[in-house]
Amino acid sequence: MAYPEIDLNLTDEQKALRAMVKKFGAEVMRPAGIELDKLGDPADVIADESILWDVFKQFRELGLHTTGFSKSIGGMAEDMDPMMGILLLEEMGYADAGLTISLYVASMPFAFCQFLPVPELRDLARQYVEDKDCKLIGCWGITEPEHGGDWSLGGDKPECGPSLRGVLKGDEFIINGQKSAWVSNGTIATHSLLHVGLDPSRGMRGQGIAICPLDLPGITRGKPLDKIGQRPLNQGEIFFDDVHLPKEYMIMTPRPASESAGGGGGLFGGGGIPMGSMAVMFGGLARAALDEAIKYAKDRIQGGVPIIEHKNIKLKLFEMFMLTESARSLSRRLQLYNTMSGSSSMLHTMAGKWMSTETAFRVASEAIQIFGGNGLSREYAIEKIFRDARAAMIEDGTNEVLALSVVDDL
Ligand SMILES: Cc1cc2nc3c(=O)[nH]c(=O)nc-3n(C[C@H](O)[C@H](O)[C@H](O)COP(=O)(O)OP(=O)(O)OC[C@H]3O[C@@H](n4cnc5c(N)ncnc54)[C@H](O)[C@@H]3O)c2cc1C
Repeated sequence: MAYPEIDLNLTDEQKALRAMVKKFGAEVMRPAGIELDKLGDPADVIADESILWDVFKQFRELGLHTTGFSKSIGGMAEDMDPMMGILLLEEMGYADAGLTISLYVASMPFAFCQFLPVPELRDLARQYVEDKDCKLIGCWGITEPEHGGDWSLGGDKPECGPSLRGVLKGDEFIINGQKSAWVSNGTIATHSLLHVGLDPSRGMRGQGIAICPLDLPGITRGKPLDKIGQRPLNQGEIFFDDVHLPKEYMIMTPRPASESAGGGGGLFGGGGIPMGSMAVMFGGLARAALDEAIKYAKDRIQGGVPIIEHKNIKLKLFEMFMLTESARSLSRRLQLYNTMSGSSSMLHTMAGKWMSTETAFRVASEAIQIFGGNGLSREYAIEKIFRDARAAMIEDGTNEVLALSVVDDL
């Protein structure tokens, strides 16, 4: 990046972490992402010999999978400050969006486990922290074939409630139904943070959240999903056929009707921090698109000079810079608020997710224009960044649905 960092207060620790992640991103994530993106069959992305596993293992060797886990179980949460989390995600998003999501959701169920009263589940969190061989991988099972936007806007309409149902029998929940092909890490995960309908009469408000080991009898997977963007990110269906889940693994049950009204971002808001993380990482991707464009414009000669000397290219680059920095500023600011205030501003969070994903897409599209014909060639990384950014506008809730889920808070 040729232009200065304008957050003046970065500490040496924050800068050191950013430098470490930047190196990991440039040397490991970016090249692996490009290689994985080119594989024709998404099953090859997760094959035993796939470079995906080198990325996972090196991430864990660096201890980066433990940033959200307490020191008491071997994690590094207490050594991280909110800005460190932001810098880490920006650099990972810069390197490869799909791999960032895969590495991020891999910790999700385990991060919850560390706070639970169930000793077995707390121990699972510790095992995850210690797991350098990537034997434990998490996912977030929420979307279903019949319910996408419903998770944010369905409210208490029974017809919008989860199709995956859990019924309590004795000490177990019996679970039937399926999660959609969009579940990130869906075919490789060992555990899911799983959203389950428990009271169908209350629609989405009648749901519970479970930690579900995915090796329980009755669980099967679909094929890895084939898609246009974030191809290094494994996704796929999870099917549940009379799955017996211990009662204490249902970590949240429906709240009383009196407590569960209101907007606030719906389920995909997830309390703000996960969605704020999306905003931050896609601000990183916008910067990646801008940097690719600047580099190319300095190299490509037309009219006898590098194209960066033409006024139309200069203005385009300036506009891309302006959009990128605006998105990054909002994302950093909202995520600092979400992590430091003890609550979340869902309005800012959804605005940031919209802003940074649309900015990444727009900047990548303008970058393709600067590349000319080469922008469409698979030889250059920019077309991949464009496809990755496009997926982000739908990922974890379409931007429109997320906005509608909070707009009444205005
Ligand atoms: C890269 C990627 C990663 C993902 N990772 C995960 C994951 O880890 N776990 C997981 O569970 N899911 C995941 N998803 C799924 C994602 O959350 C859903 O795709 C998203 O919520 C949209 O749901 P849908 O695809 O069913 O679209 P739909 O809900 O069918 O939406 C179709 C269109 O209708 C609009 N719409 C929908 N409902 C309404 C409404 N009530 N009012 C007005 N307009 C509406 C939408 O804006 C959209 O334009 C991922 C998706 C992507 C692309």
